[in-house]
Amino acid sequence: MTVRQERLQIRRNLFDRVRRAVVKVGSGVLTHEQGLNDRVIKRLAREVSMLMDQGRQVILVSSGAIASGMKKVGMAERPSDIPHKQAIAAIGQSRLMLEYEKSFARYQKKAAQILLTRDDLCNRRRYLNARNTINVLLDWKIIPVINENDTVVVEEIKFGDNDNLSAMITHLMDAQILINLTDIDGFYDKNPAAHKDALLIPMVSRIDRAMERAACDIPGAFGMGGMSSKIQTAKKVTTSGIPMVIASGLKPNILKRLFEGRDMGTLFLPGKEKMGSRKCWIAFTLKAKGTVKVNRGAARAIRKDGGSLLPIGIQNVEGDFGVGAAVSCIDPDGVAFARGLVNYRAADIRKLMGLKTSQIEQRLGYKHYDEVIHRDNLVITIDD
Ligand code: GLU
Repeated sequence: MTVRQERLQIRRNLFDRVRRAVVKVGSGVLTHEQGLNDRVIKRLAREVSMLMDQGRQVILVSSGAIASGMKKVGMAERPSDIPHKQAIAAIGQSRLMLEYEKSFARYQKKAAQILLTRDDLCNRRRYLNARNTINVLLDWKIIPVINENDTVVVEEIKFGDNDNLSAMITHLMDAQILINLTDIDGFYDKNPAAHKDALLIPMVSRIDRAMERAACDIPGAFGMGGMSSKIQTAKKVTTSGIPMVIASGLKPNILKRLFEGRDMGTLFLPGKEKMGSRKCWIAFTLKAKGTVKVNRGAARAIRKDGGSLLPIGIQNVEGDFGVGAAVSCIDPDGVAFARGLVNYRAADIRKLMGLKTSQIEQRLGYKHYDEVIHRDNLVITIDD
């Protein structure tokens, strides 16, 4: 079998198994000079409807509110201050949904709008509520169209961009693939707009530093994250055992062709182990409220043996966080290698650093747990 045949085989097997997919569509795909590109949205609706008619579930993560709002009010440049951006997003979001509604109706399908903030997904109850709601919509064969709730977010509660949001939704809904539709054909070894000899990489089994560096040179439309944020998203998704594809949303029948197992875009292969949904939430959705620096022995016990974090392994604590907060664990080389939910608040962990578990009660006057982070609430992550 040639390398290409082998790749096609992998693709076919992988896409055949997909029952639930998250499809993220960027502003560069959805908009053109005159505002929203109705033709692209119609095409997308046709392709998504076709996948649904094959018995698959599709969740759309759609950008385009700000870009569409700008065109609607004749604004040439993306506003830089938050209130203007929020106002523009409000203007554009309704237009975006109108287009989806009209386009899906042609295929006897209905769409539902879901606007989320990172705060919503960091709160376990709201996270689960969002999941229940989306599950009902999927059961009813209605297409959830998700965007960031741009009109209320401020910097601290932003997802960053919709690439990041799409990774969180993939984890939230336990989807079997994330398809990122953008305005270039996939991931190239260098910026194809600047280098004629740039090569499209059809399949990636491991994202290395060279790729991350190459991605930094490929900007995105409308000043968003570009390839770099897509590669970070691919790292998160594949680390949790889910594949991701970056492909051009401007190519006709792109979803159809991907699901036929054709060699389009870049496929990022999943890591071997499938991470549970709750661990994904801890690792990739929650924001770390602080850090604990641990010694080599503790880092090894967590990394290699799946152990809990005990007070004796802690050397330093940064941040002022409460019980239940997510914190990042840093090894002696400065690498953030794990993330977990703490059983003690920062001030108490500072008092416990370096002590044996038998000394906890004496030092604090109480002891609820032996572990500062129990292994069930601890996840090995990637350095971000
Ligand atoms: N939420 C933004 C919008 O709808 C897009 C953010 C992004 O594309 O990353 O315009």
